[in-house]
Amino acid sequence: MKQERLGRIDAAIQRALANAISTQLTDPRLGFTTVTRVETAADLKTAKVYVSVIGDRHAARLTLDALTHAAGFLRGELGHAVDLRHTPELLFIEDRSTEKAIEMSKTLAQLAAAPEVPTAEQVVAFLQHWDSFVFVSHVKPDGDTLGAGLALGLALRAQGKTVAYFQQDPVPRNLRFLADTDKVSRDIPQALVDHALWVFCDMSDAGRAGEYLPEIPRERILVIDHHLGNTCFGAVNYILTEECSTGTCVLHLLKAMQAKITPEIATCLLTTIMTDTGGFMHSNTTASVLALSAELIEAGAQKEEITNQIFANKRFAATRLVGDALRTARLEDDGAYCWSVVDEAMFALYGADSEDTEEIIGHLRAVEGVEVAALFKVFPDGVRVSLRSSGRINVQAAAARLDGGGHFRAAGLTFVGPIEEAITAVREALRAEGLS
Ligand code: AMP
Ligand code: MN
Ligand code: MN
Repeated sequence: MKQERLGRIDAAIQRALANAISTQLTDPRLGFTTVTRVETAADLKTAKVYVSVIGDRHAARLTLDALTHAAGFLRGELGHAVDLRHTPELLFIEDRSTEKAIEMSKTLAQLAAAPEVPTAEQVVAFLQHWDSFVFVSHVKPDGDTLGAGLALGLALRAQGKTVAYFQQDPVPRNLRFLADTDKVSRDIPQALVDHALWVFCDMSDAGRAGEYLPEIPRERILVIDHHLGNTCFGAVNYILTEECSTGTCVLHLLKAMQAKITPEIATCLLTTIMTDTGGFMHSNTTASVLALSAELIEAGAQKEEITNQIFANKRFAATRLVGDALRTARLEDDGAYCWSVVDEAMFALYGADSEDTEEIIGHLRAVEGVEVAALFKVFPDGVRVSLRSSGRINVQAAAARLDGGGHFRAAGLTFVGPIEEAITAVREALRAEGLS
């Protein structure tokens, strides 16, 4: 048989096995396993499957036992996934020659020891050791949290990896045009809960993913974010607070991976940038942000579609809700503080929902002389507060006083209690940070 064809069969078997091992096997003996190489015999009767296992000799032996035990099942899975006249018998062999496992332990140890942010190359080395991934976006998702995860997910899926997306809330109407959003769900297959690497995008602590998040051990968590005050809750934390969006952090990783930036990926990434820069208006719109955006448009990003979905395409209900919130806005502290409230009666009156509130805060912040704007959104489970600063007052610090978070100029929090108390508490927090 031609060497070339055998090589293709080896690669197909490797991909199918990596997928089946990470998604189908639940044997507790199974450790963190990477299929490093497959060698199929020319007569297709047998295939040697080399695997590396993280941990000590004992962990490796248990994993080999588990794989050998599951060999018949895995062979059956292969039969479905790979089109061959005869599915080879599988012989599992521990791969120590590549020393991938050692390399991996070293990568982890180095990253844990280094207080500074890991390099993109280090994060990519970590990523490449996994075969399955779950991307996590925060509650009340925005274009950054979702677009960043989708972009990296699309790139890894193109490499044959298994990818899922966890998001507690439904995909907002205006983000459904992004590729792969049909795969976003709050229900993740148990095998991925047990084995995948969980990648949290755009959140400073795991709580932001919501109460439906399954419990995931720290060693299977990667955090990619740009928020101030990130709690670094992952085994690896790629936190670049100078970046305009989590999406640009992902773009650095994709470049280090030498991944192909497809038009779909480019659209996801440009969405992250346009969301978090307010359509290139905020102060985080640096020259390099514009240069990266130009690259993404060159790669096929649908700029016009993004503009339309994020900044236009509003429901009539939203426009009327905005009108009401602006009509009832208050100006305090000698015109430095502008705030308003939307409550359930207003939502009901206009047939609007929380997705229809996004535009309001920008109008409050844009009033001349205003240093801080606040929008109080009253929901049954609490008052969600959005804060925006013109640049003098750190609203992230104010939000943090009330268990919220965010950035210097854009932050948020949830206040559990009556709206009057929320208004007082937020005013006090802002004054403590210099509003007067
Ligand atoms: P928003 O006003 O909802 O657009 O949020 C502005 C910024 O604050 C975003 O970066 C959010 O991630 C962050 N943020 C909003 N709400 C919270 C919260 N309850 N806890 C922590 N950070 C938040
Ligand atoms: Mn966000
Ligand atoms: Mn963000």
